[in-house]
Amino acid sequence: MKVFKFGGASVNSVERIKNLAAIVEQYKDDQLVIIISAMGKTTNALEKVVEAFYAGKKEEALQLFEIVKNQHLTTAKYLLVTHYNGCAEQLNDFFTEVEWLLHDKPVREFDYYYDQVVCVGELLSTCIISHFLNQEKLKNQWLDVRDIIRTDDNFRDAGVDWNYTAEKTTQAWASLSAGKNILITQGFIGSTDENESTTLGREGSDYTAALFANMLNAESLTIWKDVEGVMNADPKQFPDAQLISELNFNEVIEMAFYGAQVIHPKTIKPLQNKGIPMYVKCFLDPSLPGTVIHKKNIKGLPPIIVIKEKQLLVHLNSRDFSFMGEEPMRQLYGIFAQTRVRPNLIQSGAIGVQICMDDKQDKTDQFASQASNLFDVQLEKGLHLLTIRHYNEALVTKMLEGKEVVLMQKTKETIQILYK
Ligand code: ASP
Ligand code: MG
Repeated sequence: MKVFKFGGASVNSVERIKNLAAIVEQYKDDQLVIIISAMGKTTNALEKVVEAFYAGKKEEALQLFEIVKNQHLTTAKYLLVTHYNGCAEQLNDFFTEVEWLLHDKPVREFDYYYDQVVCVGELLSTCIISHFLNQEKLKNQWLDVRDIIRTDDNFRDAGVDWNYTAEKTTQAWASLSAGKNILITQGFIGSTDENESTTLGREGSDYTAALFANMLNAESLTIWKDVEGVMNADPKQFPDAQLISELNFNEVIEMAFYGAQVIHPKTIKPLQNKGIPMYVKCFLDPSLPGTVIHKKNIKGLPPIIVIKEKQLLVHLNSRDFSFMGEEPMRQLYGIFAQTRVRPNLIQSGAIGVQICMDDKQDKTDQFASQASNLFDVQLEKGLHLLTIRHYNEALVTKMLEGKEVVLMQKTKETIQILYK
């Protein structure tokens, strides 16, 4: 059995949904679990709905939701003939659920409402696509993934109850009705034991797909994207970026850690644990080979370049010129934990520490204000963090031409340079 994951960009138009059907057609003799994201920018649009609702702007929330509704109904109309009515009925049930909620006044925390509203994006997309594939004789079973993915109630970043979910997932796959070998379901969402919807963090569909692959012992996971495969740099920034045809799990974990926007970081572990290979393939041209990520050690990788923008360097200095010994460091790590700031780079010296982090307004302020209880704090904004795995000196020199280096760290494998 194979697991496929299609992201929002691969289902953002009638043409692309037809293209998805053409891909599935090529694999119709396989057993498939297909995980699909919300269409295009639907998740962002739903975020706006819930923000308006929570700000007490009920009419605006309803209007914004109306736009989402119409987009989905229009897509369904273009795609469906014989299966339109069945689909519209199901879509309307999802619409009604959200509208009921929007008519209430918010009494709970924002994140709770966020999950109840935002989860509908994937329910709508999978509903339309499932009906369309059935209409095209690609017989499939639609599943509400909230019936099997059980999570805690840490809304917007829910943790999966592994044992319960594994049991339910296996059952769902086993009871797939006769004559069907395709299961269609949602990524990114789950539910608590009180049947409240939850989400697993933005871009979480890759992770759901990896969970399915793990729990069902799939032969492979394929992530269908709008790029050729995994590249050694962002092609938007580096037009001569090259495809990497083979990578190993650890390398991808490293790349994600340094900020490469390849695959959701939580995706790799469930696959690595069971040695399930992952393919990254192009939905625009499925004949391209793409990238395979697996256990094998790979020699001779090209330099892999990641640039993180909007970086902030925080200079912390002890107030009394005392050394940055274990006590101040312990306190500093306490602040990281409390403010949930993840440092991208740390450089420590005798009486001070420099920390590079993403410049996210609220978090940065929180961090700086807590740190200022203990240290003298200075902020340096507007920096860029360049990371090169498997670097060579010639490339580093070229990349740094005309740039003012603020901080540099290197190991045998990786160089990191913070510059202006
Ligand atoms: N639809 C969700 C998002 O846009 C999840 C995903 O696409 O992976 O974040
Ligand atoms: Mg997406």
